[in-house]
Amino acid sequence: MDIGITLAKMPTYYDGTAHYLLKADEDFVALNRFIGRQISVEFLNQKFCAGCGQEFAELFRMGFCKNCFFTRPEAGESIIRPELSRAHLGEEDRDLAFEKGYQLQPHIVYLANSGGLKVGVTRGRQQWHRWMDQGASYALVFAQTENRYQAGQIEVALKAFIGDKTPWQRMLKNQVEAIDLLAEKERLAAELDKDLSQWVSAHKEVNEIHYPVRQYPDKVKSLNLNKSRSITAKLQGIKGQYWIMEGGNVLNVRSHTGFRVRLSLPASIATAKDATD
Ligand SMILES: [Zn+2]
Repeated sequence: MDIGITLAKMPTYYDGTAHYLLKADEDFVALNRFIGRQISVEFLNQKFCAGCGQEFAELFRMGFCKNCFFTRPEAGESIIRPELSRAHLGEEDRDLAFEKGYQLQPHIVYLANSGGLKVGVTRGRQQWHRWMDQGASYALVFAQTENRYQAGQIEVALKAFIGDKTPWQRMLKNQVEAIDLLAEKERLAAELDKDLSQWVSAHKEVNEIHYPVRQYPDKVKSLNLNKSRSITAKLQGIKGQYWIMEGGNVLNVRSHTGFRVRLSLPASIATAKDATD
């Protein structure tokens, strides 16, 4: 079965295990059922901007062409740096209506262990998706705020003590050190000034996230479809936004946003359970 796909961040859902989907032109492909099977990905040498949809020889950043990256509200400064949010002041960055809709809603600051301790921000109710996108093994809600700006202020304050990056190689090798997230929450909450500590939540539940991975690699090598063009290998698992292929090659699907590929999948698969047992 061959499917044409313009790659983009894989949608997720959770039912005790992370599930990953791929958005094809007309449907979604449930990827977990192909774990343990040989798949092929061939880059068709076309790239499409996630903003305007036009074809470009090169995309600039985040799957956007240069123009969209510098003009679209979906690529605005506050998307990557929540502390730069201005909608709560009524100030526009690129599109005030979009920014109000995005920023002026409850947000969550979380602590995650994806191979090391990190802090992150996400919109309320998005946290499980966010944790799966990052390949977090454990996560704990740290604070709940009314808007994105407040969450960004807390994240900035916590970055004085802990990082905000996912150590992707350790995450993919499943080298997860034991970290007491609740003790970290208490330690870090005590460092905040009152104007920020008022948002610290009562959550004590450390969420464990399970991934559909048959075998974690000892070494990882990141694939670049600009260079490799095509890959054929057994899919060993999916974690974060990465496909883990047999032999330790990993494909960061999100970083290939906009790449047009032909995906070849084994045709007959009885059930998801057969494929992941
Ligand atoms: Zn564009």
